[in-house]
Amino acid sequence: MAKYTPMMEQYLKIKADHQDAFLFFRLGDFYEMFFEDAIKASRELEIVLTKRDGGQDEPIPMCGVPYHSATNYIRTLVEKGYKVAICEQVEDPKTAKGVVKREVVQLITPGTVMDSTMLNERNNNFIASLSHFKDGSFVVVYCDLSTGESRVAHITLGFDRVIHELYNQPIKEIVISSNLPEDLQRQLKDRLQVTLSYQDEVTFNGEYRDLCENLNDERLVKSFSRLLNYVQYTQKRSLDHLKQAEIIELDQYLSLDMYSKRNLELTESILRKGKHGSLLWVLDRTVTAMGSRLLKKWLERPLLDKRVIEERLSVVEGFFHAFLERDSLRESLKSVYDMERLAGRIAFGNVNAKDLIQLKKSLKRLPDIKGLLNQFDHKQINGLASQIEYPEELVNLLETSIMEDPPMSIKEGSIIKDGYHEQLDQYRDASRNGKRWIAELEKKEKQETNIKSLKIGYNRVFGYYIEVTKANLHLLPEGKYERKQTLTNAERFITPELKEKEQLILEAEEKSVDLEYVLFTEIREKIKEQIPLIQYLADVISKIDVLQAFATVSEANNYKRPTFVEKKLQIKNGRHPVIEQVMENDTFVPNDIVLDDEKSILLITGPNMSGKSTYMRQLALIAIMGQIGCFVPCDEAELIIFDQIFTRIGAADDLVSGQSTFMVEMLEANHAIENATERSLILLDEIGRGTSTYDGMALAQAIVEYIHDHIHAKTLFSTHYHELTALEDNLPRLRNIHVRAEEYEGNVVFLHQIKDGAADKSYGIHVAKLANLPDKLIKRASIILNQLENNDSQTSYTEVEETNQLSFFVEEEVEPKKSKTIDKTDELLIRQLTGLDLFDMTPLEAMNELHQLQKLAKQKVKASLQE
Ligand code: ADP
Repeated sequence: MAKYTPMMEQYLKIKADHQDAFLFFRLGDFYEMFFEDAIKASRELEIVLTKRDGGQDEPIPMCGVPYHSATNYIRTLVEKGYKVAICEQVEDPKTAKGVVKREVVQLITPGTVMDSTMLNERNNNFIASLSHFKDGSFVVVYCDLSTGESRVAHITLGFDRVIHELYNQPIKEIVISSNLPEDLQRQLKDRLQVTLSYQDEVTFNGEYRDLCENLNDERLVKSFSRLLNYVQYTQKRSLDHLKQAEIIELDQYLSLDMYSKRNLELTESILRKGKHGSLLWVLDRTVTAMGSRLLKKWLERPLLDKRVIEERLSVVEGFFHAFLERDSLRESLKSVYDMERLAGRIAFGNVNAKDLIQLKKSLKRLPDIKGLLNQFDHKQINGLASQIEYPEELVNLLETSIMEDPPMSIKEGSIIKDGYHEQLDQYRDASRNGKRWIAELEKKEKQETNIKSLKIGYNRVFGYYIEVTKANLHLLPEGKYERKQTLTNAERFITPELKEKEQLILEAEEKSVDLEYVLFTEIREKIKEQIPLIQYLADVISKIDVLQAFATVSEANNYKRPTFVEKKLQIKNGRHPVIEQVMENDTFVPNDIVLDDEKSILLITGPNMSGKSTYMRQLALIAIMGQIGCFVPCDEAELIIFDQIFTRIGAADDLVSGQSTFMVEMLEANHAIENATERSLILLDEIGRGTSTYDGMALAQAIVEYIHDHIHAKTLFSTHYHELTALEDNLPRLRNIHVRAEEYEGNVVFLHQIKDGAADKSYGIHVAKLANLPDKLIKRASIILNQLENNDSQTSYTEVEETNQLSFFVEEEVEPKKSKTIDKTDELLIRQLTGLDLFDMTPLEAMNELHQLQKLAKQKVKASLQE
């Protein structure tokens, strides 16, 4: 078999070390990919697949992207979860002997993206590492390379807790040891949808030792080092902006499992997957990108420490009452750039002069902000002011060195200010003097030759020249000028004097551009030393921003400052912060709630669509808002600090992991029961709905009893099993409440008001009527219901069936309804429904099918409402 060409040999050797990445192999102005990489990349990037002769009989598949637009292609691949290894020529092709030397200079992976064009500024981009230990515990570390922050948590409560913890963060990639058991690896991949990367060799010392100094446990050090080793391996450089990892004591924060975080739509709405419609969407009145990221972090980790919560609330209150000052503060914050990420770029070495101007402008706002905060007669706000240090030296350095409007490139000059460096000034003088001399020469030559149109110009090929139009050539004296170039209408000349000056100017310019680059890198290094200070200031500013955002949103939406009590939770006229925003003209109906040890379980009944789950979520959201230090939507609130919130709300199937609604329901219920304490809040919405009636009711009742007898957590439990309301007689801590609905001319009207006691009946049939099911069917359902209610639960379905057979599938027997009987839509719905083979469907298929049917039904309801 023929041998590969030497370049292909080089390619294969490098590729062998980067099996799991696309190898972008630099060839001239292109990055080329070969073999499998090329085939896959041409598909993923929609670029043309070609061939190249590699020395063997068969040509090699190849495709490539231009060097200058590579970023877009890299972004596309990385967003899809792939890795890209950038392989550059590391010697000058002109001086190279044989094949030019090439090396991978950076590995870009979903979790290690640093390029600002690939990052969403309002989100963190986390890379995590996970290590497991013989004692069964795990250590999770996550790090945002763009901002340099890392956090570590030691988890002793099993792998499920690890998943919940990781789910809480926008993690793109997880670094593990290849020894992590297969099924855990699979769970990480499937449940979290992340890229897995392996780092088996973990070294502890070296330049990262300082970063681990605060970690008091060998296991934390090992896990953090695994991540740092991987970062070093991918970035091929040291990153000076990385901060020591913050140790997260999980018991310092309100714990929200992944189900609750998703169900409560804290940062993302379930349906649309975006920020819109989430609590974050309502609360985010931050002005800076840093503030927005911090707010998200706070939402994911509400506090337990009353002192810290009160401190935040107190600042919010101060800002709340000072509209004008707050407005000025917001204005000032607007001109603060993303200092956290700027610090990252400085450390990474890809900062340009424009970035430094942004940094300077941001730092120069600090005195204003400090001044504004000092105007308040408020201890905590003044405290924030005193945290702002003005980095005078740094600002002076930036002020004296970097031009105000520099270009993007740091290699073409026009970056460094006059007066910053003597040698540079001399070069610039030389070039300026030369140019002045040339301007004067032009004047002189015009006078001497009497040619008004004579001019001196410059181009790259010929340098400086004197141009004279053909009509005036006769006016030139003989011998003095040397002809250089002929144009249609003019001739261009040079003189020895002019060439001499030109030489000086060009030399000075070249030297000054080179020197500017050197000076710029020096300045960058100096600023690098200030990274911790910049990061510290970024932290303070983000905090101020979030607190002003709380005040702003609280004022705009009429929130009230909550107080925290030990025993009795009471909210007067509470509202759902998100739903009230999407509803038009203040139509949201506020409701009270009281929960204490005497009555710690509220059993909520009421028709579907009446507002049960809204009421439950509302409580959780108010609790969370309070515990992050924000005011809450109500007239008055006395809150308990919850240690954990558990939810089983809505039918968001865990489709990804292929679990059915009922299974998810049971998993969530179990998770709550296993972990909840007296200080926890449990929300269970329609538990048991996913299985047959008796099954479901039995489970629901058993769960309520268990919580009542063994857990004592504050619990809201909604159900459509009317039978459960009888529990009030046996369970002393359970209280019935219901959502009021009224019957009006045979239809149900929802009032969304919570009242004491059980709902007097189930309104399911009324709701079915609203959905415009055929009259005959509704009547039939009422009869069956009656019988079920009158006979006891022994009545079998067949018995009922025989007594009063309804045969609405038989055309002739259906008496024509006023408008139409089974019209087209009904028929379609019925046919599709009956035609489904449920046992032959995946949950995802079932969900899709249901979605289609529901869409049809909704169209139908809408159409009939319009009639
Ligand atoms: P249920 O859980 O009883 O089926 P939901 O809580 O899902 O009902 O509420 C159904 C709809 O009713 C909500 O989407 C909302 O539009 C409306 N709703 C619920 N509570 C209120 C309220 N307090 N005020 C106004 N509208 C409400």
